[in-house]
Amino acid sequence: MMKVKNEKKMETILSDACNKELDQCSYEELYTALLGIVEEESKKQIMPVKGRKLYYISAEFLIGKLLSNNLINLGLYEDVKACLEAHGKSMAALEEVEPEPGLGNGGLGRLAACFLDSLATLKLPGDGIGLRYHCGLFRQKFEHQSQSETPDFWLGGDEWAKKTEKTYTVSLAGEDYTARLYKLAVTGYEGRTNYLNLFDLDTVDPSVIKDGISFDKTEIARNLTLFLYPDDSDDAGRLLRIYQQYLMVSAGAQMILEECRERGSDLRDLADYAAIQINDTHPSMVIPELIRLLGEEGIEFEEAVEIVTKVCAYTNHTILAEALEKWPKHYLDTVVPQLMPVIKKLDALVCEKTEDETAFIIDKSQTVHMAHMDIHFTHSTNGVAALHTEILKNSELNQFYRLYPERFNNKTNGITFRRWLLKCNPELTELIESLIGPGFKKDASELEKLLGFVDDEKVLKRLEEIKRDNKAALAEWLKHTQDVIVNPDSIFMIQSKRLHEYKRQQLNLLYLIHQYFEIKAGHMPKTPVTAIFGAKAAPAYTIAKDIIHALLTLSKVIADDPEVCKWIQIVFVENYNVTAAEKMIPACDLSEQISLASKEASGTGNMKFMLNGALTLGTMDGANVEIAEAVGQENIYIFGQSSDQVIRRYSHGDYSAKEWYETDPNIKRAVDFLTGEEMVSCGCQEKLERFKNELIHKDWFQTLPDFNAYIVRKDQAVADYAVNPLGWTRRALINISKAGFFSSDRTIAEYNDNIWHLGE
Ligand SMILES: *Cc1c(COP(=O)(O)O)cnc(C)c1O
Repeated sequence: MMKVKNEKKMETILSDACNKELDQCSYEELYTALLGIVEEESKKQIMPVKGRKLYYISAEFLIGKLLSNNLINLGLYEDVKACLEAHGKSMAALEEVEPEPGLGNGGLGRLAACFLDSLATLKLPGDGIGLRYHCGLFRQKFEHQSQSETPDFWLGGDEWAKKTEKTYTVSLAGEDYTARLYKLAVTGYEGRTNYLNLFDLDTVDPSVIKDGISFDKTEIARNLTLFLYPDDSDDAGRLLRIYQQYLMVSAGAQMILEECRERGSDLRDLADYAAIQINDTHPSMVIPELIRLLGEEGIEFEEAVEIVTKVCAYTNHTILAEALEKWPKHYLDTVVPQLMPVIKKLDALVCEKTEDETAFIIDKSQTVHMAHMDIHFTHSTNGVAALHTEILKNSELNQFYRLYPERFNNKTNGITFRRWLLKCNPELTELIESLIGPGFKKDASELEKLLGFVDDEKVLKRLEEIKRDNKAALAEWLKHTQDVIVNPDSIFMIQSKRLHEYKRQQLNLLYLIHQYFEIKAGHMPKTPVTAIFGAKAAPAYTIAKDIIHALLTLSKVIADDPEVCKWIQIVFVENYNVTAAEKMIPACDLSEQISLASKEASGTGNMKFMLNGALTLGTMDGANVEIAEAVGQENIYIFGQSSDQVIRRYSHGDYSAKEWYETDPNIKRAVDFLTGEEMVSCGCQEKLERFKNELIHKDWFQTLPDFNAYIVRKDQAVADYAVNPLGWTRRALINISKAGFFSSDRTIAEYNDNIWHLGE
């Protein structure tokens, strides 16, 4: 009866589900009813699995709110919207009812979510495997211009992830625990339904959380899945992360073997039934766990290694040394003693293969390198953008590349256009559809047809209007949620992403200080600017929190200055998440992608902004390189050192921030301002001084050498925007038309063609 194509029918279905007239329904009742309707509809899209099925294992799935996205994918959105509106209700208000799932953190988790959407849309059999965190990362609050963290309780009420009767026994530190499976339906756009499988313990108990997000870390039966990335500044915290990882991979591996057996596998032919993608190193223990489980089924070690290598593939997400996971061996001895014999035998195999100690799994100091295990015992290692993969091959992982050149490959990241265009920017979607038809929704390369309109003034005017509407909508949202008033006629420059020194929010901060001085000196920008930030800092990352403090303090200093506040406004959006991103990205004029070249593996925020008609101001890093190639130098603002220069500087170890600070008066003026009277009277001297010292004496991510180039490019962008608005919009349209390559449908098709071969 469903796949309704008119609001009248939907009206009957909805009021039946609510069991009353729609006028009398609260948004909560409507939400519950729609959840049920989506569930029923998604079941109709379940398709049998033939051949190989993918299991995408990841510590994070940053899926965002699901209701609207599922309605869009199932073709029900327009009917529901019309039906609500006929009763004086709005989709936006309905969306408020749903809490955003706390299953991820940043780009890596969002990528996993985009991949699930694309798999289901391409009708490929592919499930996710992860953990059901009760509180996600944390909810960010600003108090006295500083970040504080509170638990983000998002469970409770109606949930998309359904509890099942399926359980698996997992041994942690010699004790048995029962992992319960929850299943969350992933609906594809006119596609199939796959599942995100999430594991949890029934015994987990949020009442152990005390005082912000701290809790007793020892009692794992009660705390195991409370938080994503629990604080790892002490032993108990680090052990807890390993407990979490093993719960995920052991329950996941058992589920995979069970499913494959049910489909007829004798386990020796596992590679004909399963492909496993290891998303970063958190799930690496799935390799020894599978070998161990196959051993229990009577398969010899050597054969098990061969099977698992054929089934598994690994994605590397970073070259930051501190993020390449390694654990003291005694941690693993404690948590997973059953895996240690396997890991030791794998290490012995490596020693037979190479004398290069930097490629060993267990090093001289008894540290276990998870990424090394992944590279040796999977058949594919991929980077996530062309530049990143080249850096892996030529420097970071060169010793492995020489051992296994055929295993290394690139899969440039992508984003799902259903969420990052159809859902978050309906006006732009409508315009595109009116110009080139609906084909781009499933074949993103069709966006290139928009190139035929870049000189059509009517189209450009409409695009300009849409951007203006989206900026007004963001302004309205900011007023409503953050109690700030912004000017939609200023240029919106947005930097929203996790807070990390390598992403260089501090460079943006120094620019704003520089502008402050320029305005004081009577050099006004060509148009008022609104600098918008969104970022969470890891709770134990002191300098990242100091950068937030400096930005919030500067925001206040400027707001209180009648001369400067006419020209600059800084807005720091509290608790940046997918919901906030969906409001911010369509409203952006200038997308800030200013990481230190070589450090951002890919970025996906850059792709979302481009798709929504922002121009990029960025370094030649990650996927920015491919964006620049696609749109051409005249349609992007590139600045700064190249990755080669940066890598050379690191290897010579000759970077001295102090020299730059002392010899460049503009740098000195901006850096000194951090602890000047204006800032200190408004903020916390200790934090501001600590941050200033870090910049002068360390500056690990080479902010100062890029400072002047950044100012020049950014001022150029502001001037272009102000002087030739239609020219700006023309270039925005070129960016949109070239965004097709960055669809995760393309990425997933490549993974499938080169690595997974699903359904075959
Ligand atoms: C896309 C996205 C990210 C990743 O942004 P980058 O700029 O690629 O780091 C992080 N958080 C959220 C909420 C996102 O939607």
